[in-house]
Formats: sequence, C-alpha cells, structure tokens
Amino acid sequence: MPVMLPTKLLRPITIACLSVALALPCASFAADKSKAEKAKPVAATDPYAEVQPATETIDLAAYQRIRDEGLNHSHVMDFAVALMDGIGPRLTGSPNLKKANEWTRDTLTKIGAENAHLEDWGEFGLGWQQLNTWARMVTPDTAVLILQATPWSPSTPGPVTGDVAFVSIQTDKDFDQYKGKLAGKVVLFGAMRDVPPVEKALFERYTDKELEDMTEIQIQGGVGGVPPAMQAAMQSRMERMKLADKIAQFFADERVAAIIEPSRDARNGGGSGGTFFDDNGATIGRTPYVAGKDIKVPVAVAAIESYGRLYRLTQAHVPVTVEIDVETKFTGEHEHGFDTVAEIPGTDPLLKDQIVMVGGHLDSWIAGTGATDNGAGTVVAMEVIRIFKALDIKPRRTIRIGLWTGEEQGIFGSKGYVTQHFGSAATATTPDQLQLPEFMRRATGPLTLKPEHKLLSGYFNIDNGTGKVRGIYTQGNTAIAGIFEQWIAPLKDLGVTTVTNRNTGGTDHLSFDAVGLPGFQFIQDEMDYETRTHHSNEDTVERLSPADLKQIATVEAIFVYNTAMRDQMLPRKPLPQPDKEQDKRKPLDVMPGAVPQPAAN
Ligand SMILES: [Zn+2]
Repeated sequence: MPVMLPTKLLRPITIACLSVALALPCASFAADKSKAEKAKPVAATDPYAEVQPATETIDLAAYQRIRDEGLNHSHVMDFAVALMDGIGPRLTGSPNLKKANEWTRDTLTKIGAENAHLEDWGEFGLGWQQLNTWARMVTPDTAVLILQATPWSPSTPGPVTGDVAFVSIQTDKDFDQYKGKLAGKVVLFGAMRDVPPVEKALFERYTDKELEDMTEIQIQGGVGGVPPAMQAAMQSRMERMKLADKIAQFFADERVAAIIEPSRDARNGGGSGGTFFDDNGATIGRTPYVAGKDIKVPVAVAAIESYGRLYRLTQAHVPVTVEIDVETKFTGEHEHGFDTVAEIPGTDPLLKDQIVMVGGHLDSWIAGTGATDNGAGTVVAMEVIRIFKALDIKPRRTIRIGLWTGEEQGIFGSKGYVTQHFGSAATATTPDQLQLPEFMRRATGPLTLKPEHKLLSGYFNIDNGTGKVRGIYTQGNTAIAGIFEQWIAPLKDLGVTTVTNRNTGGTDHLSFDAVGLPGFQFIQDEMDYETRTHHSNEDTVERLSPADLKQIATVEAIFVYNTAMRDQMLPRKPLPQPDKEQDKRKPLDVMPGAVPQPAAN
C-alpha cells in the first residue's frame, strides 16, 4: 500500500505552509483550504515553537478510571493467548506473520478502533516456516536431541543419517583442512562452550538502587560519536559477517548433509537446561532471508547439553552418527513486510490532526511463540486501545497504534513507516558502510521531512519483555524529563519511579528518534528476559506475567492519555542534522603556529 495521508491530516499543514516558511511542498496540500480558513490556527502547529508550562495539568479522575479498567477489568491475556497460542511464532515473511497482521487489524476493529489497515513497508525477502525438526543420535548409542531448524533453513530430503564431523572455522585459513572431507556428513559447527552452573537467579526485578543509578548520566571524554571500543567491536562484527557468507557457501559446495550448531549462552548461564536461541547468532549467512543469499544446507540449533555429548564423543574419536529430519517450507521469494495500523480519532477541532502513537513489534523468531519478544508489547498496545474504547475516552489528539514487523532483522517496519510518514536521511555510501546491512549504516543526511513530521507528538514503545514499567528513558530529551516526572508521581504505588535521560536502544523507538521525533521505550523489570526468554524456545505464554502486563498497559495508557490531552505537543530534541555531524566533531583550528594542511579524505 502506498503512503497513507488521509485528507483529514492535510488541513493544519495547509495553514503551516501558508503562515510559516517551510521547506515543504505546499501546492499538493491546498485542496482543503476553505475548511482550513474556518479553523484559525489558535493552537501552535509548530512543535518546536510551543512554550511548555512548568506545571502539568494532571487529571487524577482519568488516572483513576484508567487504573480501574487496566488493573481490574484487563483483557490483555485474552489478546496474549490468542496471538501466541492461536497464531504462534511470527517470523517476518512467514504465513504466520500474515495471519498475525490480519488478526491484529481485525481485532483492533472489533474493539472499536477505526481505520485499521496494513501498510506495506517494502520488500523483505523469503517467506518461510518450520513444519517439523527432529534429530537423534544412532551411534554409538541412541539419544534424542533437543533442537530446531534455524530460520530460513532449507529441508533435508526426509530423514538423513550421516557421520558426525566437528568443524571450526574462525578465519579464512581454516577452510583448507576441511576441503573434500565433508560430503554427506552431519557437521557440528562451533566449539563447545562453558556451561556454568546457574548460581545467580534467572529472574530479577530492578532494585531501588539500580533504578537510582540509572538516572546518572556518564559524559564521554571524547568528541562524541561512536567510541573507539565500540567502533572496533563493529569492525570485528563486520569481519565475522563477511566470513559467515563464505562459510555458508563452503558447506553448500562441500555438500554436507546438515549442520548442527550449539546454542549460545545468555546472561547468568540461562542458555542451558534445554533452552536454546534461534536468532541472528544462530543463522548461518548474513541475510539468509534474501533470495539468492539463502542458505543451501539444512541448519539446526541444539540445546547445549544435546550438542555437548556429540561434541565430546567426536573429540574422543568415537564414530558418531546422527539421523536428522529438517522439514521446512519456503512460501515466497519476494514477500513484503506490513505494519498493522489503527486509530482512535481525535476530537478537538484544533488538535485532532495531531497524533500520539503507541506500539511495538509484532514479529518474532520461531523456536518459541515470541511471547515476551514481543507479543507482550503488541498485546499491551492493543489493551491500551481497548482501555480507551471501554472508557469511551474522546482523546483531543488522534491516538494511533503501530505494530511493526521486520524488527528482528533491523527495525525495518518502523523505519519504513517513519520514512513514509515522517522523514528520513540518506545513509553513507563509503565502501566500509556499504558492507553493513542498510539499517546499520551511518546517516549522512540531510533529513528530508514529510508534512506529518509536525503532527506527531510522541511515540511510546514496549519491547523489553513482560516486566512491569519502572520508569521511562527520555532518550536524551531533557526538556521532557520534568513533564514525565510529574506524570509518574501518582504512579509510585505501581512501582513507576524513574525518569532517566539515558538512551536505550535495540528497538523501534529508535526509528522515530532518528528523525527527531519524541520516541520512548519504558524501563521494564528484567524478569527472565535476558537470561532465558529473549529469542529462545522458552519464549512462550508461560513466561508472561499477567499482573505485570496489566500494569504496563495501565501505565502506557496513562502516558498516551496525557500526551493526547495536554494543550501542547511534547517537547522535542533539536532536529538532528546528520549531514553536519562529521563537521561538528572536527577539532577547532586554534593551535598557535600550526601550518594549514591540505584537506585529507
Ligand atoms: Zn523485540
């Protein structure tokens, strides 16, 4: 679907174009002029020019009604069980994600949202689903192995039995020793790792001290930008990614029967006890979802204990054979990605074209059902909409829900949505940057803004699992900290205490932040997200905490309510200038006696 710009959004843009010098095309938005003249722009439509009050107007009666609906009449688990158990895992490009897009759209309509629809963010790649995967050791003993296919793995031609060979490839030099030796083999790919005892809890909540520490800001010593250590880490990651493509091709050329990988570990030794992870770290090849770059050899990722026995036997030179059946299905080569979008229209004649967004990503990996990542954020956002409709709240601004896809491969869905609706910047085209997937490339600007950029007050995201909200990251928007502090004061008894100016990354609010829009992720209790559930076969409904999800929906609904109802839009950070970023970091020319040098490249 092309960019959606309903005519109701156009009126204030016409006003803005007429009254403010804007570098935006005005002509195509002049159609609705007569209505525009009726509604004089009493309220400012330039979010950068609005004066913010020192004291927020807090509607405690609304807080009370939202708390009652969200905590005492919650339906968040109805949404959760339907999505996770009824539909299941939601890999981008898969038939299940299509079902989930349609179910979220239709369910949002059912609970009273308007204009529910899917928006195409662009081509993603291969459609794929796992039908079944099993494997067993047949020599020297029989044993059932705990494993599943990695996403986008091809099938074996039915069950195949092969001798097991251990392969370790760390650099380009390592290929030679395996050449001509792997045909028909089941390859154990990856060194056995430590499996430490689980001495620390897999389940944690933030202590008051940890939350307090989180409010402190560390100022970097350098000129800013990416610190050298992080640059080095990115460089080595790039090298590994390049090697991954070569490895995938090598195994195909050598005609190996199948590959079994050991699952990575997680925090506090959580990658054990039958838990395994099937994310980017397990897929062989850089972009296995792209036709032409797809993996030609079946790959499965095994629980570390299953891998360990095979590994130790091969290291002891005991002949091992494994029978493995990977049954998967490719369902399309050029599947597009879609975001689910729906609205509760605003009612204030002057503010209804402004937007408050709430959302999270709908897609997941495949080994579990994506309950905490990110079924939680999805069902909570849907519950926020349900709360508004159940209480028949008439928001002044339009509330819009966005459920993104392609997040796990590079926040594609939210980035696509932001590009189509709000703005974007060109990314670097230097050789080193071109080797990175597009979402990791540096923006070199300048920002190109769309008319809707002026209309979005804020976006609220949940994507850190099932843990309740303990506060919010302002993402460096210090002008908003005092506002949020006032909003959460009546929520202390729910455990919401902390506003930090720190950034948090890794999810869809970044797409908004990148173009200067207020996008926020809440601080959520850790629970067993980083230790066990995030991208694992254990990410199921059992890992959801209904009490926490009720709290999240209630708190998020209150944030959305306040944003929709206050007189002003939320304050913004200065508009990013990615095109000027490099220049701003250049040393000043102040050294006495320095001889000017010719410009370097
Ligand atoms: Zn996520």
